[in-house]
Amino acid sequence: MVQQAAAMQQAPVYLDANATEPLRPAARDAMLAGLDQVGNPASVHAAGRKARIMLEEARRQIAASFGREADSCVFTSGGTEADTLALHAFGHAEGRPILMGATEHDAIRRAVPEAGIIPVDGQGVIDRTALEEMLEAHEAPLVCIMAANNETGVHAPLREVAALCRRHGAFLHVDAVQAAGRMREQDDFLLALKDGSLEGASLALSAHKMGGPKGSGVLLLPEDRPLSPLLPGGGQERGRRGGTPALASHMGMAAALEESRRQDWNILAVLRDELEAVMVQAGAIIMGHGVARLPNTVSAVLPGVPAQMQLMALDIEGYCVSAGSACSSGKVSRSHVLEAMGQGEAAGQAIRVSLPWNVVADDVRAFGRAYGLMAQRFAERGLLKKTSSCGRSQ
Ligand code: PLP
Repeated sequence: MVQQAAAMQQAPVYLDANATEPLRPAARDAMLAGLDQVGNPASVHAAGRKARIMLEEARRQIAASFGREADSCVFTSGGTEADTLALHAFGHAEGRPILMGATEHDAIRRAVPEAGIIPVDGQGVIDRTALEEMLEAHEAPLVCIMAANNETGVHAPLREVAALCRRHGAFLHVDAVQAAGRMREQDDFLLALKDGSLEGASLALSAHKMGGPKGSGVLLLPEDRPLSPLLPGGGQERGRRGGTPALASHMGMAAALEESRRQDWNILAVLRDELEAVMVQAGAIIMGHGVARLPNTVSAVLPGVPAQMQLMALDIEGYCVSAGSACSSGKVSRSHVLEAMGQGEAAGQAIRVSLPWNVVADDVRAFGRAYGLMAQRFAERGLLKKTSSCGRSQ
């Protein structure tokens, strides 16, 4: 009781970075400079020109980070808008059939309910044989694949996917919202960027998943090409996205991205692996274990224990984590990602722990202990089921 009261008095420990990363100080500084700039980037007078220079510098920085020209970068209100713009411009407006991975984010899934669904295997990796068959059956489709999954962190084999799309004349759109700010040398996303595999693809990015502000994002185009806008508005962004750009937010995004590229994500991966070992010891099964994943993400099933009960127990102990999937009402639903991975009942029993860029090792270890105690309490109540899976998804 005393311990519980003490935990509630302390600031909660934030381990939900895939929902949103804490703001990086460099992003805040950049945003303050942007907020203090009065001009509208579209105005021709001196104040407008100044704002324009700042906006164009942010655009150049972001595009260059992905090896692209500034003109290929279209600012949006976030990842959802960037994804929706890609679906609209390269799918509907160009008359292409649309195919998407079974574990895509709702930003993609819900925008095109009638899309062809490309299955994934038990670890959440895109089934390349199925993709090839679908590419053969559809003429020049738009294929949407996420670089890394928001729930499990599982990476897509992007170089292979891009090669298949090229061979079949498909247009590839990559939802890079979770991967873009957490890149490591060995990740397929970075390797695909470096070897030119993604030259013909569009990429969706979101500032707040990199330690930038919420409400800013980018659609990176394969080249400087016109596209049918979702928001024609006043023709801003060279006619590709109307509306006065959120100067301060986009400057914050550019700064956050630059910081994220400097971070050694392998340090987080070591902490994450240590935590997973503790959670497995407590009875958890790790989803996507053994395949390439984001360095900060744990998706753990506690067999027999509904995710909502785990979240509530951990919240009382002062830890902010999330369920596999939460709808906007805050109610926990079954994870479509784990369902697509064939996890059955387990789809309602997974929580996601995602370490933020500024995570403190002691907090992660304390979380591991709290998780172990929670699992023990559920075992005593007869809820937690024992498995023979050695803690790995099958
Ligand atoms: N795509 C993925 C993979 C995401 O995880 C998210 C947000 O969680 C989005 C798209 C939507 O991004 P935003 O919140 O910037 O609209």
